[in-house]
Amino acid sequence: MNVATIRWSAACDACGATLHCSGTQAVVGDRLRWDEEHRCAGCGSTVLVCGDTLPDHLRTRMLAEHGAARLALSDTTVRRLPILRVLRADRGLTLPEAQTLLELMVSGRHHGTGPEIDLLARRLRAVGVAAEAVRPHGASGGS
Ligand SMILES: [Zn+2]
Repeated sequence: MNVATIRWSAACDACGATLHCSGTQAVVGDRLRWDEEHRCAGCGSTVLVCGDTLPDHLRTRMLAEHGAARLALSDTTVRRLPILRVLRADRGLTLPEAQTLLELMVSGRHHGTGPEIDLLARRLRAVGVAAEAVRPHGASGGS
């Protein structure tokens, strides 16, 4: 599954009761989506937000809880041009930024959340680059 979910609790701003919070990141179609939900057990107040670029606070929590997935390029001679094209088109990177990211990927040091790496690997495979997402040990992949 290309879905990662985290849950935590906090205190409600309005009444002080326990606020049940959850955050989800998923690959929907060909895009990353996230949502965050807060529901108060006391006063019933509910907050729902969603978007495409995962906010830092959710990303940090997700990486801490699920661990980071790694992008593995299995070709011994990586064709760099198609990869650079994918990186620049998907993320709006400049060429130097895309090259820096590519170096990380080639040396096996590019990490991200499960859904982020899954989608990147899928986009690279679509242009003929042998890439796969390597899940951290012990991760369930969400449910
Ligand atoms: Zn409340």
